[in-house]
Amino acid sequence: MARVIAVTNQKGGVGKTTTSVNLAACLAAADLPTLLIDIDPQANATSATGVAVPEGHPTTYEVLNGTATVAEAAIAAPLDKLVVSPGAPSLVGAELELVETVDRATRLREAIAPARHDYEFIIVDCPPALGLLTLNGLVASDSVIVPIQCEYLALEGLSRMMETLERVQAGMNPTLRLEGILLTMVDPRMNLTRQVIAEVRQHFGEEVFGAEVPRSVRLAEAPSFGKPIILYDLRSAGAQAYLKLMREVVRNGTEGTRARA
Ligand code: ATP
Ligand code: MG
Repeated sequence: MARVIAVTNQKGGVGKTTTSVNLAACLAAADLPTLLIDIDPQANATSATGVAVPEGHPTTYEVLNGTATVAEAAIAAPLDKLVVSPGAPSLVGAELELVETVDRATRLREAIAPARHDYEFIIVDCPPALGLLTLNGLVASDSVIVPIQCEYLALEGLSRMMETLERVQAGMNPTLRLEGILLTMVDPRMNLTRQVIAEVRQHFGEEVFGAEVPRSVRLAEAPSFGKPIILYDLRSAGAQAYLKLMREVVRNGTEGTRARA
């Protein structure tokens, strides 16, 4: 049965998509069948994985409105064991249309239930807002990875994110866990970065992944080649960071406790 992990932060541009794509790719490279679900209308995770969506092919939009199954929407990525349910601009419409429905927050959970048997991991890349799309992601998931950029006010944003998680846990998904907080765009040469890392680790301790994703040009340019970093530049620090994250995530599941390296 797949573990379903949402990558979420209501703040934009913190590395959600970069983390979704690269964690999914590292899991697949470790021979673990993985489904990446892009529920962001920007569809950046889809293109960054190198997936081209044929005209008329169903996307996560059709999955949410019930006109396609996950299996029908899924497209094989150019990496063995990695499959993508593509994002599409039409998902903006889903956000509005779902408001009218009674099962508006559980659509994704219902849709992925049959797919849980086909994969070891399902990674959900959420958009940068706390609308119905993100709510569907949180309700469908077993756990959440929260990437944060090491910058001024990072802790405040993180507190808001934790409140959101608690609301979802108190309501629609009581078993939702925090998989971990991921420090992204880390530039250790900057004093501010070091301060933020120290504060976040002090406040959240074991909830913070040992892996830290460095600010890296290679990570930023890989999506324009439609390649996860392990295919673009395996030896780069960014690739090594995401491989380390993958190993921590895998261990979290097998040991039942948090394992940080
Ligand atoms: P959004 O909220 O718009 O969905 P996001 O949280 O998904 O954004 P990304 O798209 O992953 O964030 O990253 C934002 C930008 O920063 C992108 O251009 C990405 O290539 C770049 N980026 C992400 N991580 C890194 C990194 N570690 N080093 C350098 N650039 C990065
Ligand atoms: Mg994104």
